[in-house]
Amino acid sequence: MNVNLTPNDLSHVVAADRAHVWHHLTQHKPYETVDPRVIVEGRGVKVWDATGKEYIDAVSGGVWTVNVGYGRETIADAVRDQLVKMNFFGGSMGSVPGALFAEKLLEKMPGMSRVYYSNSGSEANEKAFKMVRQISQRFHGGKKWKILYRDRDYHGTTIACLGAGGQDERGALYGPFPDGFVRVPHCLEYRKQWDDVSGADYGRRAADAIEEVILREGPDTVGAICLEPVTAGGGVIVPPEGYWPRVQEICRKYDILLHIDEVVCGLGRTGTWFGYQNWGVEPDFVTMAKGVASGYAAISCTVTTEKVFEMFKDDASDPMSYFRDISTFGGCTAGPAAALENMRIIEDENLLDNCLAMSERLMGNLEKLKEKHAVIGDVRGKGLFCGAELVADRETKQPVEEKKAQAVVAGAMVRGVIIGCTNRSLPGMNTTLCLSPALIVTPAEIDKITDAIDGALTEVFG
Ligand code: PMP
Repeated sequence: MNVNLTPNDLSHVVAADRAHVWHHLTQHKPYETVDPRVIVEGRGVKVWDATGKEYIDAVSGGVWTVNVGYGRETIADAVRDQLVKMNFFGGSMGSVPGALFAEKLLEKMPGMSRVYYSNSGSEANEKAFKMVRQISQRFHGGKKWKILYRDRDYHGTTIACLGAGGQDERGALYGPFPDGFVRVPHCLEYRKQWDDVSGADYGRRAADAIEEVILREGPDTVGAICLEPVTAGGGVIVPPEGYWPRVQEICRKYDILLHIDEVVCGLGRTGTWFGYQNWGVEPDFVTMAKGVASGYAAISCTVTTEKVFEMFKDDASDPMSYFRDISTFGGCTAGPAAALENMRIIEDENLLDNCLAMSERLMGNLEKLKEKHAVIGDVRGKGLFCGAELVADRETKQPVEEKKAQAVVAGAMVRGVIIGCTNRSLPGMNTTLCLSPALIVTPAEIDKITDAIDGALTEVFG
């Protein structure tokens, strides 16, 4: 560790954090007796906490974000140079990095055409929802206003995004939600909803279930469907082959806009620039956030086709025709400056190739762990976005108790590896260890990650 703080300063920092900071997604009661963990420094895939303990971070900043790893001086330099030159101008003005990043991003997204900037994944999704509603108002008499979303998907933390969220525990305390968001079934074959089919047929069957919802609601009332390419927090759900082509077909059949939420998968996480590109999907909206600047600055994008963009243009100076939306900090240049350099790194260091190679090793190691530990019911993943679902019983697929899943995460932490775990507390929902190291991870680091999980599973389950 190479922090510029003395141990005394650090104990002050920890005390200040304990006294004054309200952490995300955290029950603070235990901090009455123990210190919160404060992460002080990072380099590559490693981080150090305020006690000096070193960890391999197998979740890229906790939430699948730091795709190019920690300590990237060229990103910091690009942001610094940009900020002293021109840090911010909001509203309708453009910026140099905003223009250049949009150009570079769209090179990787054939068929897509326009980039709308904001600050978080939730916001990027809300922008797309608003665009769908505006299109409905202007071109369908307000009738095509419903937005479909999938069980177990997550699209963000705002009230509208929670309304479009398929993880009930996240929204349970915050309703009522706005009308017009309609749920379709998930596509996780491990937890089968249709017994008579499997593989690609299962994928097509799960997509057919979307059509059933559209027909129930009335195709004229459905404007869009919002889906994660691979469901993240809902349990690392990779749709079976057959799913995406059928979804595309259904969207075209009923003139429904396809919104892909790439907030987690975007910028290389699944070994392609975007998750949807694994299946040749042609979306109308793509939203992205976390990996766009690998957490070096806050930035999100709502990317659309030219066809969508054209619907917001009007020669007749109609003040209600353009997209009547603004995000103050969508005008901050730190985001696109960081994002531009982040993309250069992914490209120049061939991180998509490394992602695929390391994915093979990680998935292979997880399969071996599954042979050894009966508590692992299923292993799944795409690129460096992998999960191992924990079940108390392989026959019934009952999830393990929450406290046991927590003990596995804690056990890995003691062994110097930070891992994630999804949906721990929901009865009937799956409990999936979640692994998504930075795309620069090495074979030796992958092995350390799975060795730590092996040790933690043995400790907790024998
Ligand atoms: N979409 C997906 C798929 C996500 O996983 C998340 C965040 N975990 C979001 C949207 C929301 O992003 P943010 O937290 O930046 O608002």
